[in-house]
Amino acid sequence: MSRRKAVVIGAGIGGISCAIRLQSLGFDTEIVEALDAPGGRAYVRKVDGFVFDMGPTVLTVPHFIEELFSLQQDHAMLGEPDFPAGTLDENCRIREGVSGGPNTSKYVEIVPILPFYRIYFDDGTFFDYDGDPVSTREQIKRLAPEDLAGYEAFHDQARAIFHRGFLKLGYTYFGSLGSMLRVVPDLLKLGAVQSLFGMVSKYFKSDKMRQVFSFEPLLVGGNPMKVPAIYAMIHFVEKTWGIHYAKGGTGALVAGLVKKFEDMGGQLRVNAPVKRILVENRTTKGVELEDGEEIAADVVVSNADYATTYLKLVDKAHRRINRDALVKFRKQSMSLMVIYFGYERRDNDPDLRHHNIILGPRYEALLDEIFEKKVMSPDFSQYLHIPTLTDPTLAPPGHHAAYTLIPVPNNASGIDWDIEGPKLSARVLSFLEEQGYIPDLTARLKHMSFITPDYFSETLGSYLGNGFGVEPVLTQTAFFRPHNKSEDVHNLYLVGQGTQPGGGTPSVMMSAKMTAREIARDLGVEASVINGVPEQREAAA
Ligand SMILES: Cc1cc2nc3c(=O)[nH]c(=O)nc-3n(C[C@H](O)[C@H](O)[C@H](O)COP(=O)(O)OP(=O)(O)OC[C@H]3O[C@@H](n4cnc5c(N)ncnc54)[C@H](O)[C@@H]3O)c2cc1C
Repeated sequence: MSRRKAVVIGAGIGGISCAIRLQSLGFDTEIVEALDAPGGRAYVRKVDGFVFDMGPTVLTVPHFIEELFSLQQDHAMLGEPDFPAGTLDENCRIREGVSGGPNTSKYVEIVPILPFYRIYFDDGTFFDYDGDPVSTREQIKRLAPEDLAGYEAFHDQARAIFHRGFLKLGYTYFGSLGSMLRVVPDLLKLGAVQSLFGMVSKYFKSDKMRQVFSFEPLLVGGNPMKVPAIYAMIHFVEKTWGIHYAKGGTGALVAGLVKKFEDMGGQLRVNAPVKRILVENRTTKGVELEDGEEIAADVVVSNADYATTYLKLVDKAHRRINRDALVKFRKQSMSLMVIYFGYERRDNDPDLRHHNIILGPRYEALLDEIFEKKVMSPDFSQYLHIPTLTDPTLAPPGHHAAYTLIPVPNNASGIDWDIEGPKLSARVLSFLEEQGYIPDLTARLKHMSFITPDYFSETLGSYLGNGFGVEPVLTQTAFFRPHNKSEDVHNLYLVGQGTQPGGGTPSVMMSAKMTAREIARDLGVEASVINGVPEQREAAA
């Protein structure tokens, strides 16, 4: 029987992960990517001798990466993953060798990062968050002793949410309302549907601790005031398996995944923007590229933005009657300004870390302006990333390559970024210099460029310039999040941050597995392939 053909639109981490899985399911898989290189949000900007990862930098759940690198033709591993024991040993030190895994290390070297984050408050004090309960308690004692007991209670609730929400339900695809209703009682019992900030505020009195234990969803586009408390699981995911870095940058992980895909026989085409998804009799027949070329396929998976997939790539005649209203009704996530900059190192540089969160003077009010009011704020919080503290190869000798990321409203705001972008980037860099984070930055600066929400809308094709797909709020979670299997067109599927389970690199890898499972079931892929172990079959033959 001839092999079936799959086309994946977009080479983001979700698209490549799904393509690897389709290849393992026995499809001839082709990825067609609009840009000139893979990665999507994880695209790499190389300029003036500096290498900047443009997007994700905090890698978590390394065994998801290992699972992708372990796949083979006819060995799809679509069952529930084995969750390995935690990364920290009994002395709360990262265990040797847990980062990479044997199959990962054939393609990319992954190393742990400690502390996970250094979180600076506006008064100059800081908290080194490393997942170690002993040092966490010591730091709470130093900054907010009144919150020590609250931390223990928070920790217990977060652990319970992690066990149920991630270990047990993480891979559940909520394709029907029934599948969702079955888990609601459990989630209510765990207190996982209140807002994360509400949960955190119950346990912590100090503003500083409330920020430390609630900021993490911002890294996947969630407003701590609005994300359901199920997102407390991020705290435990990080604590259990650590935070990691791919040597050479996240771009090296993307390159490794592409190589794995190609080693399995898959084909990646760049500079190949898709104009539309071909549909006949409510079933997809493939895609048409912008240059008019048609690629026939049995299955099409879109890794493009969810709203863009429906509003631009599926002709209106093939969309469900309520599709446009539903797409436009959904709340899009916030956006970002990201400033990439290279500067001269100095021996007496302040003691920054690989990942630094620099919080501004306001928290709740600032979040409200970014997510709800959608206005330019007088102040900002930022995530300053300096990977050259771990990996000097990303910059010319004697230099650092850094980026700083500032959450901003998406383009529903009407802000003119041609005017506001240069002003905000100048304010942020002056802040870093004047507050002593990087003294004399202006004199040392060798490269500076930035992106605004316009990059997300114009270059990445994200509706309203969203940074992370639809916003993770309760009413857009699980069944209520866009579905990975299209209801409008047969054999059309979606993958990536706009779909279930959500944004962030581990989630889009989970999304790839959920989508592949639906495809395997719908297209009748043999059970032996789905969970096959080729070595055993070979031995039996
Ligand atoms: C600045 C930033 C920092 C982040 N930091 C972290 C982090 O530290 N840790 C973490 O876990 N997550 C982080 N995230 C989130 C994470 O990067 C994303 O959730 C994830 O990478 C999204 O992957 P994806 O595959 O869903 O989509 P994308 O990466 O958006 O890929 C979609 C691809 O589809 C292509 N495409 C679109 N339309 C078409 C078309 N018509 N034809 C062909 N191709 C098309 C696009 O060019 C793109 O390559 C960050 C995000 C950003 C923006």
